[in-house]
Amino acid sequence: MAMLEVHGLEVAYGRVKAVKGIDFSVEEGQVVTLLGTNGAGKTTTLRTLSGLLQPSAGEIWFDGKRIDGMAAHKVVQGGLAQSPEGRRIFPRLSVEDNLMLGAFARRDRAGVQADLARVFDLFEVLKERRKQSAGTFSGGEQQMLAMGRALMSRPRLLMLDEPSMGLSPLMMQRIMSTIAELQSEGVTILLVEQNAQAALSLADKGYVLEVGSIAFSDTGQNLLSDDRVRKAYLGED
Ligand code: ATP
Repeated sequence: MAMLEVHGLEVAYGRVKAVKGIDFSVEEGQVVTLLGTNGAGKTTTLRTLSGLLQPSAGEIWFDGKRIDGMAAHKVVQGGLAQSPEGRRIFPRLSVEDNLMLGAFARRDRAGVQADLARVFDLFEVLKERRKQSAGTFSGGEQQMLAMGRALMSRPRLLMLDEPSMGLSPLMMQRIMSTIAELQSEGVTILLVEQNAQAALSLADKGYVLEVGSIAFSDTGQNLLSDDRVRKAYLGED
């Protein structure tokens, strides 16, 4: 069984079905990406995996346990964490307090301190400015903070929703290389990203979502050279 398995997942907002029965899986250690145009259902899917939205049908299995219908904090405790779209950091809190919120459910203080040190190693700027309020940060720095906060729950599977949104090319590269580094440390990653080129270059596997359904899927490398992907997501004719 894969680390994450999604079977026949449906999610609706009232009468509008945003996700219409999708199947996908993420193997332990992989980077898997979900591609799709605006409104395809990517964010809805991640929020449902996190326990923030309830599916109207289907099953979600993580680590051999069924997690659909589980409360969001239980999902995080089980090892599945999300860095949300738009970052959602707390601007009035310090960088360090924002990070510690990611560890709210943990009792292993030594482990939490070790993870804080690890986040500070990954993102030097967070360490330098740990006492500053997060609202003074640039978009890229806030993105690092959001990723850092998600890492503070010590997830085995980290979901990232558009981590490069609004970032400079340099900052984007930085985030992408951090994702590769996390993978090499054994973190499994499910990535939603507008920059299809960057996402597919990293991804072991990609799924293309179109209006709530999976249109096709393949390895990241194959999708990079797939005509349908090149036309729709890589801006080529
Ligand atoms: P984006 O890249 O724009 O975030 P997405 O692929 O993540 O796109 P979703 O945000 O999951 O797409 O949206 C899927 C569908 O659900 C869209 O048609 C959207 O309008 C609708 N939708 C999303 N959130 C809500 C909501 N809170 N209430 C009603 N409809 C919603």
